[in-house]
Amino acid sequence: MLLAYVLGSIAGGLGMQLGIGGLIELLYYRRRRQEPEAWKCQPKRFPSAENRRSEVILGAANMTVASILSGFFAYGVASGKLKTTIYFGVGPGILASLGLTLAYFLLTDLGLYAAHRFLHRPTLFRYIHRWHHKYTAPTPFTAAAMHPIEFFTYQSIMAVPLFLLPIPLPGLIFVLLYQNYVALIDHSGVRFQSWWPWQPPTQFHDDHHVYFHVNYGQNLGLWDRLFGTWRRHGRKYGVGVFGGRGETVAGARDHSFVDYGRNAPARGVVTPSAVAASTSERAAS
Ligand SMILES: [Zn+2]
Ligand SMILES: [Zn+2]
Repeated sequence: MLLAYVLGSIAGGLGMQLGIGGLIELLYYRRRRQEPEAWKCQPKRFPSAENRRSEVILGAANMTVASILSGFFAYGVASGKLKTTIYFGVGPGILASLGLTLAYFLLTDLGLYAAHRFLHRPTLFRYIHRWHHKYTAPTPFTAAAMHPIEFFTYQSIMAVPLFLLPIPLPGLIFVLLYQNYVALIDHSGVRFQSWWPWQPPTQFHDDHHVYFHVNYGQNLGLWDRLFGTWRRHGRKYGVGVFGGRGETVAGARDHSFVDYGRNAPARGVVTPSAVAASTSERAAS
């Protein structure tokens, strides 16, 4: 019985990663490789063969270990051996269940933002989060390619509220699948617009891999807007510019938030000096 939960969890985790990743690989990176200007967030930059190999191996290893732990967790909950605040029936009613699901989503998304931002502090960035930022032209396989400590931190943020906040099982499954899907799509390297007004397009997180210390949000753009870490005009960013707000460019007057909407220019057209700066610093390190 326990084995069924563990194997099912591994199949689900790796299946989603390889299924969505494989589909994007086939439809864009293979079939449309000759026309990157038409679809790629960074048309001039493709990952090296070595980075592609390492991100697939590291991502799959993280996902497998996390799935095994999730399998144990799910078995514990289903068998009643692990006492959580997850409920299975109608609980306090449909409206309250929707509200609790929303609360879980908001709380964990804020937690993911805070943890990610914290990992951008110089020492933690250097020893832990840098593993993920090695991939400056992300692909879906970059989503789980990170230091195991970082992966475990994010998993814990999703798990801790399950001991504190009542949450309906379908709501929990929905949030986990939605967050996992967004992580994969946000790393796709493909210019996808968001269907939802609360979720920025893929260029937003792709820029995080280009500019480093900015645009920390996992799903909601709200936290970066609220805490001033959304990328701005008139600022210089790069691997050595810590703090999330960039450095003011001398003489720049416009410090408004960068627009990632439908009419925003594609990366191939705009080549900010910050990209060149961050690239040369990266090459030097
Ligand atoms: Zn980061
Ligand atoms: Zn990333």
